[in-house]
Amino acid sequence: MRPQGKLEYGGQTAPLRTCVGCRVRTVKSELLRLVQVEGVIVPDLRGRLHGRGASLHPTLKCLELAERRRAFSRAFRGTEALDTSRVRVCLEELQREGEAG
Ligand SMILES: [Zn+2]
Repeated sequence: MRPQGKLEYGGQTAPLRTCVGCRVRTVKSELLRLVQVEGVIVPDLRGRLHGRGASLHPTLKCLELAERRRAFSRAFRGTEALDTSRVRVCLEELQREGEAG
């Protein structure tokens, strides 16, 4: 079952975003915001980059799902051949940190 509507955190409603990989809606803070800069998708780790964004769980699995589904082309409005290598490197690092600690 996929959660519908709003999740409540301590009585407050948290903003929800949909992961472009697995299409699960979850609280914004659990997703990595991605933006496109000249055909390269970069992770917006500090939430400071402007422009159209896409949200993704910070996992390689969701990145691969998004690539297979061409979700980035859709999210970034028809731009073809987007480079996701920077996102991949970032997620690999996050995964290594997770395993280490
Ligand atoms: Zn996901």
